[in-house]
Amino acid sequence: MKKGRGVFMKRLLAAFSVLLLLLSLFSFGSCSEQTVTKSVFAMNTYCTVTVPAKNADAADEIIRRVNALEALLSVSREGSDIYRLNYSDGEQTPIDNETALLLKRALELNSLLPAFDFSLFRLSLLWGFFDTPSVPDDADIKSALSHCGTDKLTVGDGFASLSGGAMVDLGAIAKGYAADEASKILLSHGVERALLNFGGNVFVLGTKQSGADYKVGIKKPYTEEILATLTGKDLFYVTSGSYERYFTEGGKNYCHIIDPKTGYPAESGLYSVTVVCEDGTLADVLSTAFFIMGAEASLDFINETHLCEAVFVTCGNGVIITDGLKDRFTLLSSDYALKD
Ligand code: AMP
Ligand code: MG
Repeated sequence: MKKGRGVFMKRLLAAFSVLLLLLSLFSFGSCSEQTVTKSVFAMNTYCTVTVPAKNADAADEIIRRVNALEALLSVSREGSDIYRLNYSDGEQTPIDNETALLLKRALELNSLLPAFDFSLFRLSLLWGFFDTPSVPDDADIKSALSHCGTDKLTVGDGFASLSGGAMVDLGAIAKGYAADEASKILLSHGVERALLNFGGNVFVLGTKQSGADYKVGIKKPYTEEILATLTGKDLFYVTSGSYERYFTEGGKNYCHIIDPKTGYPAESGLYSVTVVCEDGTLADVLSTAFFIMGAEASLDFINETHLCEAVFVTCGNGVIITDGLKDRFTLLSSDYALKD
């Protein structure tokens, strides 16, 4: 049975509420320190900041910064740089320098990891991921795919243009970039400890007041339970998962991450990938790309580049972790087994 927009949105919101619940794992661990949590709906998700109450100014500045980035980078907000670029009919479009820089970074990361292809927006629209999702005709998928390709994007200082009907979408990188910018604001305010959760892009600054590490939860796929926890300070933890946004048709689940080789939702045998590293933008891109590439190719990439640590949750109920996480990972569910 085809699921309509209502069901899709319900799932989307359920996923967000789980992410917010995850924050409760991040108890600041002290009766004496008061905290504040501020949240904003931006970049198609909830962006949440938790800081000690004395640092409320930093949280306010972060919310303002996230709103400003949303105004530039949103794919669906009329008047944003990305919206104007996508609907410019191939014309050169003036954009903010910050948007130009992020598009250039996205191009570089696409060269490193072709699975991260931010030119697939036409396909996301065809699959209805921004409206009412359903499986399109194969011919329409092939036709939309022929319009995609990052080679159709030209970026200069303060302008960009798209040829051949391509449309871009920074949904797999913008939250990570925003989290990077937010972490800079925390540091500039001298904040000692803080937790950010921008739709699955988590940043942990410092430790609990007791000196103990915060625990970051990885969700058990398609449930509201926690599968495993990770520890480690001053790091980004970014998860891409098939259960985050999906619809079901003909008894099959279709997720929102599209394989640029096929034009269909990625199916690489993974429920989720969590990437851990010091660069939020990179972590966001890596988690999306790894989800498409699958565990084996991603592990080869990590062994070659040493750019991050990662946790792969496989559809066979296995969990694979990279060596650097061995002492920082705890599996909480007996339904899943740690694999070598
Ligand atoms: P994330 O949640 O960071 O994994 O990003 C997923 C979002 O990025 C989707 O909701 C789309 O907006 C967009 N997207 C889908 N497929 C791709 C892809 N292959 N490369 C880059 N962005 C993608
Ligand atoms: Mg991503």
